Amino acid sequence: MQTTGAMDGSDGSAGERRLRSTRVLLTGVDGYCITPATVVLRRDRITEVLPYEAPQPEDDDLGERLLTPAFVDAHTHLALCFMRGVDTRRVRANLVEDLYFHFESRLSPGDVRAFSRMGAYESLLSGVGFVWDHYYAGLEVADALRETGLCGAVAPTVQDMAGPGKSQPDRALRDTLDLAHSAAYRETGIVAAFGPHATDTVSPALLRHIAELAESEQLPVHLHVAQSLDELRRIEAREGRSPMALLQREGILTRPPHVLMAHAIYASMADLRGLDPDRHTVAFCPSSQAQFAMPASLPHFERAGVRWAVASDCASSNDSMNLQKELRACVLAGATQATHHFAYASFLESGRFADAEVAAEVRLEGAAELRVGLQVERLLSRVLELPGSMHPQLTVGRIAPGCLANLVCWDLQHPAFFPVVDPLRGLCLSDTAGAMYALWTRGQERGMRGDVSRSIVQSDAYRESHKEARERLTRLLA
Ligand SMILES: [Zn+2]
Repeated sequence: MQTTGAMDGSDGSAGERRLRSTRVLLTGVDGYCITPATVVLRRDRITEVLPYEAPQPEDDDLGERLLTPAFVDAHTHLALCFMRGVDTRRVRANLVEDLYFHFESRLSPGDVRAFSRMGAYESLLSGVGFVWDHYYAGLEVADALRETGLCGAVAPTVQDMAGPGKSQPDRALRDTLDLAHSAAYRETGIVAAFGPHATDTVSPALLRHIAELAESEQLPVHLHVAQSLDELRRIEAREGRSPMALLQREGILTRPPHVLMAHAIYASMADLRGLDPDRHTVAFCPSSQAQFAMPASLPHFERAGVRWAVASDCASSNDSMNLQKELRACVLAGATQATHHFAYASFLESGRFADAEVAAEVRLEGAAELRVGLQVERLLSRVLELPGSMHPQLTVGRIAPGCLANLVCWDLQHPAFFPVVDPLRGLCLSDTAGAMYALWTRGQERGMRGDVSRSIVQSDAYRESHKEARERLTRLLA
């Protein structure tokens, strides 16, 4: 059985492989269905989905185990795992600028590569096959993906006004284009996106230039938008408009084929209603946003018709790259709307039954608003098809011909799925990382079947990566 760690993307067998299971998660016209099927892979792609009948001797029979697409993480900074556990309690103002920028400005390209590898391994071991990553020294991130087998759309971080990358915007753009034009990266499931950092760290002129480039190259743009009060204050003071309106003025919302916007916490309803679900996706990162004590409001996203995907952001502000935890956090974010409403606060102060009744009405209204958006099938699509269909060069997150062959086979005998009444719900809201029986990225099996996690962690490639990351971290903090 193969283990992860191939460096050059040449680990693929060119021949056809047929994965057969009585439970394959497919996307039909009415949503998901779990059905018997044979999935045919050639090189890094799914080429056919055939009926279960007529088995062939060469079939790889997975029995009754559940075969699904691997998860897609819509917004990551893999390298930031090096700051997991850093004490943020003393940072009172702007976490990104006052803490992250300080450490990030000291990273060497080799550090970025070593730390990104650790983030990539963590993602793989929670069933993630593709990430939308945004970071400095983007080619190092791309190499880290290639070395671990994780796939992704890499956006080298561009800044020209503030931040650790502000002296090198041209370099970041050149890296983006090099990545975009590289067949070698594309063959290993790695594509490029333009990555302006945020509206207050990139000048309007550079935003305009990126919008033009994204249109001519037909590459998506991935950036942070309306993330902090500071950003809102600066843009309103300087431009007399909101961060989203600035993006509209500079062509970022209209010229690229797709725009992925992380957070949108300080985006008004007018901003949100102006988004086009066919070309704009907002990444909702509930656990990470909780660290800023200000998660975005899902009811408002739903009311405005926003297309939103779910993401982990980074281990430094989240502690985990497990997307199932994020899906559960979405449900919590929806369920606690009434808890933080003034009607409930009134009841707590007065103790009156009438106030409790009002609070209960608020709860029911909120639940009604989110009933559709938080359905298990909808939630699951936010870590599969929605983030998997944002790049013109590659589709991932579903089992269909032409899609990148990133797949997970889950052992339904594992207690996390018991009693297998609704495996879709288990996949969405349970913690099934321990039930991962087999994992494929770009058509190649990673780790040892039946023992994926332990075999990867015990591989030479992983041990070397871990050793290097530890040594680099020690030097960084010295
Ligand atoms: Zn971010």
